Amino acid sequence: MKRNPHAGEPFTDDDAAIASALKDVSVPALMCSLVHVTGDPSWIRGRVKPRLALAFDVQSGIPAEEQEEIRGAALPVIAAYRDGGCQPKELPPELLQEMMAFLGLRPVEGTLAGLFFDDLQFEGGDVGAVTWRDEIPERIRDECPVVVIGCGMGGILAGIRLKQAGLPFTIIEKNAGPGGTWWENRYPGARVDVGSHQYCYSFEPGDHWSEFYCQHGELRDYFTDILNKYGLGPYCRFDTAVTGMTWDEGSSSWEVRVASAGGAEEMIKARFVISAVGSLNIPRMPAIPGMETFTGPSFHSARWPEDLDITGTRFALIGAGASGFQIAPTIAGEVGQLTVFQRTAQWIIYNPIYHTAVPDGDRWALRHLPFYGRWYRFIMTFPGISAGVEPYRIQPAHDDPTSHSVNPGHAQRADLLLAWMKSMIEGRPDLEPKVIPDYPAMGKRVLLDNGSYLRCLQRPNVELVRTAIERVVADGVVTSDGTHYPADIICYATGFRHNDFLASFDVHGRGGVSLRDRWGDEPTAYLGITVPDFPNLFCVYGPGTNLAHGAGLFYHSEFQVHYAMDAIHQTLTAGAAACEVTPEAHGRYVQRYRSEIDQLVWSHPSIRHSHYKNPAGRVFTLSPWPIDEYWRMTRQVEPDDYVFS
Ligand code: NAP
Repeated sequence: MKRNPHAGEPFTDDDAAIASALKDVSVPALMCSLVHVTGDPSWIRGRVKPRLALAFDVQSGIPAEEQEEIRGAALPVIAAYRDGGCQPKELPPELLQEMMAFLGLRPVEGTLAGLFFDDLQFEGGDVGAVTWRDEIPERIRDECPVVVIGCGMGGILAGIRLKQAGLPFTIIEKNAGPGGTWWENRYPGARVDVGSHQYCYSFEPGDHWSEFYCQHGELRDYFTDILNKYGLGPYCRFDTAVTGMTWDEGSSSWEVRVASAGGAEEMIKARFVISAVGSLNIPRMPAIPGMETFTGPSFHSARWPEDLDITGTRFALIGAGASGFQIAPTIAGEVGQLTVFQRTAQWIIYNPIYHTAVPDGDRWALRHLPFYGRWYRFIMTFPGISAGVEPYRIQPAHDDPTSHSVNPGHAQRADLLLAWMKSMIEGRPDLEPKVIPDYPAMGKRVLLDNGSYLRCLQRPNVELVRTAIERVVADGVVTSDGTHYPADIICYATGFRHNDFLASFDVHGRGGVSLRDRWGDEPTAYLGITVPDFPNLFCVYGPGTNLAHGAGLFYHSEFQVHYAMDAIHQTLTAGAAACEVTPEAHGRYVQRYRSEIDQLVWSHPSIRHSHYKNPAGRVFTLSPWPIDEYWRMTRQVEPDDYVFS
């Protein structure tokens, strides 16, 4: 029988090696693993208990002496497990739920429990795997080619599911390899800021990450490995871009136009299209007068030249959002002078393990101790997911003269963030007015850091400029007060066209209607996935599904691909060729969406510059739903919301 992939690989390490590994482990995850090892729930029912549920604290606030106690007690138990052949015990769901509550410090019930049972997959099968292949006659499957656009996180997942469904499919990818944004972003310092152990597919063991927040190369390798493991290579067409797609009424299919890097054009017919094109990958260059006159290298952060030598140069970094704030500390020691132009100060959350390697012992435990990795993922994910969106809700009566908060709990959070930020710049009072934000905490994309950015700003060769840029000149940047900042290189870390969904190609639906015209500056889709008049088209990471709360986007990708596959299944089992969301279902959803998102901090009117906002200052990019609520909403397609024809 195939071993449960989360049960850990059997091991023969001696007691000394196990004792050494135990020094590095997360004790609360170990305690849960020991229940799997022994079947004995007393490991989580004793005196030692987590004190905190905090994603960055893998010890959950358990004091050091209590950790030692558990480590000591664990050694003979793990040695006996080894000697017995490493066979974990089956645990009943009620006990697993109790273990969730143990780590989460609160009951885990309803949709929250449902989501985590799906996510943690204790039974070892991939709960999201498509199992309906044989229900659909081969002849019908053969008539249903699918095009997946994009071979990043969402596109690879769609490929895995379509292969399981036995549908013919092609993944079209403009880049030369897989990984999407992680293929493209190679700037120094690029790393994920959602924990590695949750920033991966739920159905794959996550025991290999070298850092708690891994760097871009490792993520690129991850996507390549998954692509190979699931045999998706032959289904991919790299270096090929979709240039447009038109719905053909007669054949109930999409005519997808593609162009290879060499310029050859082709039309591919597809019954269904899954768009997994990403939403943060079309560079947004600023419109600063004189940019074209600069004589040195200049580029967007996502187009960092491979052979760029920055040693000793005068480097101008324009933009210090999620990309810029990672670049600055990474290059500050190498360049001669670094000038950081930051238009808006950013809120930063202190994360002590942001640059930390996963210790060897912990990696051993992730690889070998049964379900340890699952509980590790839970510890990292549960606090964000269970918090929902209430911490971000604007209470109109809340009065904060500092404008840092939108409700009383939020005010406490803002105070904590501020206290830490101020402590980081204690010796530099001149920096305080420059780095302390003047808008509500977490109202823009919040940054995570262990202090590297604020430390870097205090280096003698680094200057933070908050004065507006007036123009770029041949040898530098000039600000509105007339100061000239000489530069040899300019990097525009100015973000992406996040509001322009599916902007890299034209989409024409029923009756030739253009998706771009339909959306204008207010892109909307039912559940962020389907749009009336655009049958058989499913968006992954579509409008209103980016996450500024809760968890990493892998969660949403899995929900959205699951939903798309259910829609395809329902269409085929109904003997239909097309499914299309009704205008009523879409309209109801959009009304709910707007009413919710308008009440959350990201819509706060005091936030002037935010890539979450459209030109009118309204938010159509972010999800306003708690993750478990969105999981419930996307579990299955509600047939009444669709017309199958
Ligand atoms: P961003 O967060 O939108 O930041 C862009 C920066 O450029 C901001 O400082 C912005 O200032 C500035 N800027 C833009 N236009 C400007 C102009 N005309 N003049 C002066 N300054 C200008 O973009 P990003 O840093 O590339 O990040 C985008 C998204 O990518 C993130 O939200 C995140 O989702 C993703 N990302 C993730 C990671 C990660 O996981 N660690 C890393 C990088 C990116 P304002 O703030 O005033 O607009």
